[in-house]
Amino acid sequence: MTKKQFRAESKRLLEMMINSIYSQKEIFLRELISNASDAIDKIYYKALTDESLSFNKDDYYIKIIPNKDNRTLTIEDTGIGMTMEELETNLGTIAQSGSLSFKKENEMKDGQDIIGQFGVGFYSSFMVADEVTVITKSLGSDSAYKWQSKGADGYTIEACEKDEIGTKITLKLKDNTEDDSFDEYLDQYRLKAIIKKYSDFIRYPIKMDITEKKLKDDSEDEYEDVQKEQIINSMVPIWRKNKNELTAEDYEKFYSEKHYGFDKPLKHIHISVDGAVRYNSILFIPEQTPYDFYSKEFSKGLELYSNGVLIMEKCADLLPDYFSFVKGMVDSEDLSLNISREILQQDKQLKLIAKNIKNKIKKELLSLLKSDREKYEKFYQSFGRQLKYGVYSDFGSHKEDLQDLLMFYSSSEKKLVTLDEYVSRMPEDQKFIYYAAGESNARIEKLPQTEMIADKGYEILYFTDEVDEFAIRMLMNYKEKEFKSVSSGDLGLEDSEENNDKEMEEKENKELFESMKDILSGKVKDVRISKRLKSHPVCLTADGEVSIEMEKILKAMPD
Ligand code: ADP
Ligand code: MG
Repeated sequence: MTKKQFRAESKRLLEMMINSIYSQKEIFLRELISNASDAIDKIYYKALTDESLSFNKDDYYIKIIPNKDNRTLTIEDTGIGMTMEELETNLGTIAQSGSLSFKKENEMKDGQDIIGQFGVGFYSSFMVADEVTVITKSLGSDSAYKWQSKGADGYTIEACEKDEIGTKITLKLKDNTEDDSFDEYLDQYRLKAIIKKYSDFIRYPIKMDITEKKLKDDSEDEYEDVQKEQIINSMVPIWRKNKNELTAEDYEKFYSEKHYGFDKPLKHIHISVDGAVRYNSILFIPEQTPYDFYSKEFSKGLELYSNGVLIMEKCADLLPDYFSFVKGMVDSEDLSLNISREILQQDKQLKLIAKNIKNKIKKELLSLLKSDREKYEKFYQSFGRQLKYGVYSDFGSHKEDLQDLLMFYSSSEKKLVTLDEYVSRMPEDQKFIYYAAGESNARIEKLPQTEMIADKGYEILYFTDEVDEFAIRMLMNYKEKEFKSVSSGDLGLEDSEENNDKEMEEKENKELFESMKDILSGKVKDVRISKRLKSHPVCLTADGEVSIEMEKILKAMPD
């Protein structure tokens, strides 16, 4: 049997592709700039292997030229250009990536900087343009060609004039409609913002003429428009720089430029990993709790870059919820992107990176705790509650990760202490880690239940956050010591002799207790003798698993 080839309605396919792959129109500029950067990279690569070529970095650039009068936007590069055949194959065939072929032909290792791979990015220009014109002259060729297309209808190629090697792509912007204005792609500030957002770390200069109002010479109030060429992108990503060359100010500047927060970061973490998965990352622990941090509006996530090109503004999968306060970015060459380069195809690498990052953050926080207690406490004031939520959520499955980061106020130390510090101070006869829950430290201090324990010389942790007790219940124990609420029925203190005494006394005063119970019926379950009281005549204790404080919180929660 003869095998038949699929036919495709290429017009429809192209239309579908153009309008359904990308969620945002502005992406077209990222795609065209990425292609231009690839084209320059190819010359650079060729120069490395071909001695007759030299590569002077200053000669290579990408230029963005908006023209309001003609309603066109031009993206010009000094890259390798295309021959007529290349125009035909690369721009005439959907899903044909000349860049991917280039990588293969030259046996370039993965991760060398060429961005293109799918052979569709170019067509995204039809999201904003009626007509696209490509004028190009290939390295080593004397002739230049013009490729022109109105999208689905096909394209034409003809010879033309062009002096320099490189490519010039001109988009004739679509007419504005009620829903969409395409004029924004002529506005210098808007273009600048899009370039900054997606292409800030393209390694070649992206230039644009910026018009600014300047005072006229010899005038005090008359202005004139002055055009000045500016380089828009920062080019060298700070995360690829050597850590030793960077100062705290560099990181702070990056933090504020990226609008990670209005505060100054409390700490930065710079990671470069060259292992099973390669990535660079700069993470920040903010100093202050963002105003919406504990609200539904807050969404966690890190910026995700692939080869220096922004792929996702907030990649939530990179951070566990309990570290949601962490800001920053990840850049990796090893991500398998899907065709729109917007979402990730499969997240094996991403999971690996996320796990890596989680461990690193934990390690850095632990080392901060050890090396700079004051700073750590500052951090803990801002985000400690989130860690406790972390212990509590997912049935305490994160407790291993988090328990050493927790701090509580201590009755004896009169300051925040860690569980490790508590346990290391425990006298030998002390079986439990005691805690008392209440509204404030001052209030807890006055609880009659704490007296006997304090009297024994045992330390008590004060739980003033609603989540504290819930989290500790999930933790259950720390270093094999169980947690015990001071208001629990059995404090694990009374020895058997005392218990005998209690029983005796309870028998002797049976009638008294019965009538107390009658009077308080419906309010308490039982009235018993207690050995834990010193100066207070009476105290309430919880019956069963739920403490009095927890009961209050549970009752206050909406159903
Ligand atoms: P990709 O970049 O994923 O390969 P594109 O659709 O963006 O796919 O581009 C298709 C191909 O067209 C590229 O692989 C490249 O060979 C060629 N091309 C596009 N733009 C340029 C340019 N500015 N200079 C040289 N070649 C280009
Ligand atoms: Mg491309």
